Amino acid sequence: MFDIYLASPRGYCAWVDRAIGMLDDIVKAYQDEGPIYVNHEIVHNKFIVNYFERKGVVFSDNLDEVPTGSIIVFSAHGVAPSFVAAAKAKWLRCVDASCPLVIKVHNEAKKFISEGYQIIYIGKKNHQEAIGVADNDLENIFVVGNRQEADGLSFPDWQKLALLNQTTLSVDDTKELIDYICQKYPDIKLPGFSDICYATTNRQEAVKEIVKLSDALIIVGSENSSNSQKLKLIGERASIPSILIDNKDELPNSFLEWISSIWISSGASAPDNLVQDLLDHLKGKWGVLKEEIITKEEKMIFPYKIDIPKS
Ligand code: SF4
Repeated sequence: MFDIYLASPRGYCAWVDRAIGMLDDIVKAYQDEGPIYVNHEIVHNKFIVNYFERKGVVFSDNLDEVPTGSIIVFSAHGVAPSFVAAAKAKWLRCVDASCPLVIKVHNEAKKFISEGYQIIYIGKKNHQEAIGVADNDLENIFVVGNRQEADGLSFPDWQKLALLNQTTLSVDDTKELIDYICQKYPDIKLPGFSDICYATTNRQEAVKEIVKLSDALIIVGSENSSNSQKLKLIGERASIPSILIDNKDELPNSFLEWISSIWISSGASAPDNLVQDLLDHLKGKWGVLKEEIITKEEKMIFPYKIDIPKS
């Protein structure tokens, strides 16, 4: 038998909770008018995507599949301006569920570009959020994920430069890359506040505290969730067995052998009922729930208003 500990904060951030609630409300109010469409995934979580698909929501990045006049919700990761323009040109009724903290980065990018800056944006090239921000100006925003990619860029001496980043990256890796880029370009302009969001920061800090004490780490979240991946990375770097699973059924029994304590956390888009399922699975047969360690109270609230254009 091993001891089980829970990290907190974990799971839904305030905006994921809002975005899911928003889509739920839209489905309830408008499903009689035909399917509700969402570009990409409302949040990066399989359970949530399946839940909405069962309610008839269609997730698609292909506007050809969306009939004129339909309601389309833009996902929490933010959306490429060209996609919004194409959706509007098709007379789709657009609802923006982009996280305000992602919109903040879009706004920073637009402001810098309007002032003649070129932007080095730290992020994952194929991540929805990075795609959306870069789309503000594909010729002047350069997405880099590491030093090598940063080294591949060159700018004339007179070029004004700014540095932005994706909201859900590793705090430590991003700081290291920011420092490296700032050394190369000492005059580069940074945003007033870090672009890594509070939820990503808090979840990473909580896991950093607990890995000092644990034999193994389980992160509940989906493979395509950037912030969940970064939580697992903290365990891997601390050289403890670490696993990212969507739900309890993905946890191999072999992972539970030879440990005396296990710590559990979850990504910002993972519902807590999946963590509770995992706990129920582990308790009794495998381990005993000892404690929930709260490293920070989160009080963030995002108000929202659904404003759907008329058909
Ligand atoms: S993880 Fe951060 S950026 Fe993503 S939805 Fe939550 S608060 Fe917004």
